[in-house]
Amino acid sequence: MNATQKPYLSIVVPVYNEEENVRPLYEKIRTVCEAIGRTYEVLFVDDGSQDNTFEVLSELRNQEHHLVVIRFQENAGQTAAMAAGFEFAQGERIISMDGDLQNDPADIPQLLEKLDEDYDLVCGWRRERQDKFWTRRVPSVAANWIISKVTGVAIHDNGCSLKAYRAEIIKQVPLYGEMHRFIPAMSKVVGARIAEMVVKHHPRRFGTSKYGLSRIWRVILDILAFKLILSIFARQSNPNGNSLTQKSYDNEINPKFHVYRIAAFLSLPFFIIGFLLINVAIIAALSCIGMGISLMGISLITSWSISKAQREAADLSPLAPFFIYRCARRPIRYFGPFGTLLTALGGILTIGFPNVSPILINTGILIFCCGLFGEAIVFANAKRVKDYTVEIVLNAREDVKRIENVL
Ligand code: UDP
Ligand code: MG
Repeated sequence: MNATQKPYLSIVVPVYNEEENVRPLYEKIRTVCEAIGRTYEVLFVDDGSQDNTFEVLSELRNQEHHLVVIRFQENAGQTAAMAAGFEFAQGERIISMDGDLQNDPADIPQLLEKLDEDYDLVCGWRRERQDKFWTRRVPSVAANWIISKVTGVAIHDNGCSLKAYRAEIIKQVPLYGEMHRFIPAMSKVVGARIAEMVVKHHPRRFGTSKYGLSRIWRVILDILAFKLILSIFARQSNPNGNSLTQKSYDNEINPKFHVYRIAAFLSLPFFIIGFLLINVAIIAALSCIGMGISLMGISLITSWSISKAQREAADLSPLAPFFIYRCARRPIRYFGPFGTLLTALGGILTIGFPNVSPILINTGILIFCCGLFGEAIVFANAKRVKDYTVEIVLNAREDVKRIENVL
């Protein structure tokens, strides 16, 4: 492959503290790719590792022409790492996989064959999953069942990173937060034809898993956020008049859409409850109406900032840098628990402190909604995640590039 030629295949591997795994994994990938016989590149995205992962990768890159190493300034999460990898990938076919040797590169040829049967996305299914039973496999079965019911995309194993994509499809899918678990559902929205295939899975030999049981709560929040995103962003359209009804994201969104929809949906119940309560408890009534007004205000600001971000492909709104950078991984994770806690406290205080409780309940709801608004903003800027995260790119085809920190 010469300096200007684009490879056929790109393998994207997010890694966070995987110093012992990266070298053997690269070697396995190389063996498989050489056997396939097409041009390829391997992109390792170092998600701000604190161990020697980056040093090992840099050393490896000096000998290996197929390797591209992308280094994040700090740990931004597996989804951001995958998104940056997809962004930089040049191949027309892309494979994503974990960097801990749990996925097996030997499955790559079959995944690509399946893709050639006219699919846009082939998802790996770890039927014989080699992880702990109660803390991993049971929650995963439950989560996959819920995700398939909520999203309408019946895939057995949304969480399996080993997947194959047609580049033009995955590059359209906006990924942020921890939405890598929703790739099949997100891809369906852009009209992808999806298949799944049983893949091998090995126990972790080196290093430790980066997720604990808190993942269950986060997946629940993700489902919520996913629903919100679809309701705000995806518009039903049928451009060619054929039977495949596609939904589409971003560019086509009319800014008014956000203003009316978000404001109406979120503030209306507050106004209604407020007016119903006027004869019962005036403080509760006023605080409800006040909440309606503030939600309406936030809706307007948010819809304005989203449409501006999309129009100008920039985060010019005052809220965007805060949500994208400070809360890049999950606005709802910061606002959600706090809002829920306040609302619950307000509920308990109805007995004994009826004047204080509605204020707490409403503030709690407002804070929770801020989290959802944050999600919307981060989503609108999802394609720009690399602008916020990438520090260094070691590219086999070019010299070392240092990407300036935009903040
Ligand atoms: N990972 C990452 N950033 C993170 C957490 C994980 O890039 O913040 C990578 C990790 O190095 C691995 C993959 O994502 O390559 C999957 O993580 P892990 O193996 O910990 O997840 P599990 O297999 O336990 O679900
Ligand atoms: Mg793993």
